[in-house]
Amino acid sequence: SSHSLRGPVALSHLLLRTLVPPAGRVVDATCGNGKDTLLLAELVGPHGHVFAFDIQPAACERTMTRLREAELHERVTVHTIGHERMGTVVSAPLAAVVFNLGWLPGGDRAVTTRPETTCAALEASLNLLQPGGCLLITCYPGHEGGDRETAAVCAWAAALCAGRWHVWRMGQMNVSAAAPFCVLIQQGRSADVP
Ligand code: SAM
Repeated sequence: SSHSLRGPVALSHLLLRTLVPPAGRVVDATCGNGKDTLLLAELVGPHGHVFAFDIQPAACERTMTRLREAELHERVTVHTIGHERMGTVVSAPLAAVVFNLGWLPGGDRAVTTRPETTCAALEASLNLLQPGGCLLITCYPGHEGGDRETAAVCAWAAALCAGRWHVWRMGQMNVSAAAPFCVLIQQGRSADVP
């Protein structure tokens, strides 16, 4: 395979390539520079749709520019509102919801995701997922404030009912203990029940 596995974003992309179906409806909860949005738009194909969110207008514009350059903008709707309000503009069923937490690379580090709004958005995401649908979160425990947010996300994820949700934590082992990692949550299908 030619897919790099350096770092959690690369891992998240590898997972998304398997988990996002053609014609799926998906959410990028933190579109930032739009790299995840672009991959999602490729994966859902001409019959799917990506709903992207960011609170920074500049991030939303950059995402839209990237999508237009790739001529995939018709598959994407960008909302300049907090992801904790995604339920006001997106309805079920979703095949995937993606969060890349922390601050925008190359942007203002003061504008970062926060535990309260992140957890509210994660909770909203669960209610929108289809059976077999996935929630994929990249956490940054080494960022200032990211430690507290990572702890909140992990406590929330670890408490999900094991009969209904398949919850995974995936991180590189030969790096700093504070290195970023992925949390993957799949909604079980009724066939999964033992
Ligand atoms: N996925 C992006 C990419 O590929 O370029 C990087 C995302 S960056 C790590 C995190 C983004 O979350 C920032 O652009 C920030 O503005 C955004 N953000 C912070 N709080 C938010 C909220 N409540 N709702 C939506 N986006 C938020």
